[in-house]
Amino acid sequence: MDHHSPGPDSCAELRAQVRELTAAWRDAGRYTPRSDSWLRSFDLEFSRELATRGLIAMTYPEEFGGAGRTNVERLAVTEELLRAGAPVAAHWIGDRQIGPAVLRHGTRELQEEIVPRIASGEAVFCLGMSEPEAGSDLASVRTTAERVDGGWLVNGHKIWTTQAHHATHAYLLARTSRGERKHEGLTEFVLDMDAEGVSVTPIVDLAGEHHFNEVRFENVLVPAQRVLGEVGQGWKQVVEQLSFERGGAERALSSYPVLVELISESARQKDDRELRALLGSLVARLAVLRRLCFEVAGAMDAGQAPVQQAAALKYLGNAFEHDVIEALRRTDLCQDPAFDSPFGQALLASPAFSLRGGAAEVLLSLIARQEARS
Ligand SMILES: Cc1cc2nc3c(=O)[nH]c(=O)nc-3n(C[C@H](O)[C@H](O)[C@H](O)COP(=O)(O)OP(=O)(O)OC[C@H]3O[C@@H](n4cnc5c(N)ncnc54)[C@H](O)[C@@H]3O)c2cc1C
Repeated sequence: MDHHSPGPDSCAELRAQVRELTAAWRDAGRYTPRSDSWLRSFDLEFSRELATRGLIAMTYPEEFGGAGRTNVERLAVTEELLRAGAPVAAHWIGDRQIGPAVLRHGTRELQEEIVPRIASGEAVFCLGMSEPEAGSDLASVRTTAERVDGGWLVNGHKIWTTQAHHATHAYLLARTSRGERKHEGLTEFVLDMDAEGVSVTPIVDLAGEHHFNEVRFENVLVPAQRVLGEVGQGWKQVVEQLSFERGGAERALSSYPVLVELISESARQKDDRELRALLGSLVARLAVLRRLCFEVAGAMDAGQAPVQQAAALKYLGNAFEHDVIEALRRTDLCQDPAFDSPFGQALLASPAFSLRGGAAEVLLSLIARQEARS
């Protein structure tokens, strides 16, 4: 990598702006910092405050309500929001991957309809990819969209749909035809969650929290202009979109509040040399992961979809976060952890780290396949 390209120390002003905002909200008791906040901490007001300040949709063109900034600048902001454990779930999915996907592949009409609403914090998106029989094997989706007068009729069943109960819109991957290969004949759509025939039922997770759901579609009419990209090219597009989903700082910083606890604990237990050595190696790994995040953001700024680097980042980031939690287990802090402490939250969320956004084994085979091709 070019030594002059922007890295983790860049964007000081933007970082200061986010630190000031999150400190003000936290000190006013408007949120409590938590682990995994990008998935579980939902506050429309906070997302709209960020939107007003130009801190979401940062990379989108100004004509669509964006700030016309770089992915590297966006990364600096997302790092700070995650460090602060701030309530960012309302805009995270839309901002991270739906806006960029619509900007890359959507018609002008779809861009004008959807992108400004993501930028203002008005549109809340959920991701309708996984199904009961299609998680890692996403190409096996069975939800169908059948062409009818004026649009498409959608029938099917999605699962693990994060924040569907709050969402105004869904991204949907559906089968529009049967080709010889299962990767063919898939199409992406944007649909309204209040459309007739959409129903949402909660799934309560290990921590007793409700953030994901099952979503059923029964003869839901989706207007023709809500096709995202080319009919039948959904697979190629979704693989690209997954690099936006996997390549961000949340893959290493979901449990940052726990790392801070570990650092404080190590300061208290000065004689525990083993703990200090462990902490040193974790902090060094974090530095490498952040560098990788900046490489991914730089590649996005160069117009690429860094599928392989994003998969590598997610794989290594998940392993890192597991090890942070394991390190904390050796300290007094985990004698009697409260479920709602950052440690308790991270511990209960951790079984999902290597699953959400793509299972570890699947990421490894993706990296290996790309490596073999290059
Ligand atoms: C917290 C959380 C939030 C989520 N949010 C969303 C969401 O908003 N929208 C959405 O669409 N999905 C969401 N998901 C779903 C998630 O992306 C899927 O769970 C994931 O893709 C794995 O699919 P699966 O659960 O069907 O597991 P499976 O595909 O059944 O995989 C189970 C295990 O089998 C093994 N395995 C599977 N395939 C292979 C292979 N090819 N090679 C080797 N081993 C393999 C792996 O060990 C894997 O961990 C979420 C999941 C979690 C945990």
